[in-house]
Amino acid sequence: MRRFISITLAFALVLSLTACFGPPVDPDTVQESIQVIAMDTPMFISTYGRRSTGAAYASEDLIRALEARLSRTEEDSDISRLNAAGGETVEVGWDTYCLLDQAAFFNAETGGAFNIAIAPVVSAWGFTTDSFQVPSQAELDRLLALTDPRGVSPAQLGDAKFTASLEPGQSVDLGGIAKGYAADKLADLFVEYEVPRAMAQLGGNVLVWGDRPDGTAWRVGVQDPARPDEQNAFVGVLNLKNAFAVTSGGYQRYFEEGGKRYHHIIDPATGYPADSDLTSVTVVAEADPDIPRKNGAMCDAYSTGLFIMGEEEALRFWRSRRQQNRENAFELVLVTEDGRVVVTQGLAEAFTLDEGSGYTLEIVS
Ligand code: AMP
Ligand code: MG
Repeated sequence: MRRFISITLAFALVLSLTACFGPPVDPDTVQESIQVIAMDTPMFISTYGRRSTGAAYASEDLIRALEARLSRTEEDSDISRLNAAGGETVEVGWDTYCLLDQAAFFNAETGGAFNIAIAPVVSAWGFTTDSFQVPSQAELDRLLALTDPRGVSPAQLGDAKFTASLEPGQSVDLGGIAKGYAADKLADLFVEYEVPRAMAQLGGNVLVWGDRPDGTAWRVGVQDPARPDEQNAFVGVLNLKNAFAVTSGGYQRYFEEGGKRYHHIIDPATGYPADSDLTSVTVVAEADPDIPRKNGAMCDAYSTGLFIMGEEEALRFWRSRRQQNRENAFELVLVTEDGRVVVTQGLAEAFTLDEGSGYTLEIVS
């Protein structure tokens, strides 16, 4: 396991100078950065403040502990044991229980589009093992019969004992929500370590905490889905403080066969990669120390689910939830196949289109 810790040179220099003379260093600008490769994803976390080093190390430990519970490929993880249990009940940890519970909630919220029980179908396409193939319709029909989310049963037995079971033949895949949940847990950790500002990028899941050292908002680029391999190829930039921003898109993982592209977000209604008129969905919600922290998982589940829904249904979904209480409020940046960037009203100020991107901007209310 690799752990990279770097204190910025600039800071080291400032510190060595001010140790002898000059004004004292503002502890809120002290920074640690780490890189972790976990959950199949390169992750970058920068923490600031007096306890930035402890917070950075604890962030890595937290992510590794979650991965050990949730991985589909590590044999003794909760999820691997659950998937291999053949319908028997297995004991699981608190985080696994919470995630299964939250996944059921977001399944209902998205009308079934977000469904962790889609796992057997994701595997049939080869996305679990990287041995890609187009499954036959007969196989898809057989596997789709195993994706009823009501077969997933998490349970709490007493204060610190949690179990879960599946119907025989079922399995679950938390790839569409685990990183968002991890971002929620990082927000908890930042509160615990009194981190004044931080930025965590867990693949397509970004958490910005507080503001930047100069008092301005963090800048989160929205990748141009048409240029997935180019760094700094953005459709635009979001200026955000205290927020989760989670992007899903077919461009993030796919294979090609017979001249056709097959991506990793599976429509539970068909068993096929979602035939979406969107190329990416970014969901943004508040990361406020004072509100219950489920918004990271929510953004992650919704970004996957709304990609499947497509533009019209995703916007209907957003409008239908606008009146909800502030805690669960979310906003969207949708990139469409026909070259538009559709931004919901609440992000109108925060989003700046990259003028050279070739996309046109639409603000919707
Ligand atoms: P994300 O990048 O968050 O959109 O998650 C995509 C991942 O979620 C895929 O690689 C699969 O592991 C899993 N997945 C695919 N389709 C679905 C679905 N309909 N509901 C929930 N998870 C899914
Ligand atoms: Mg997701």
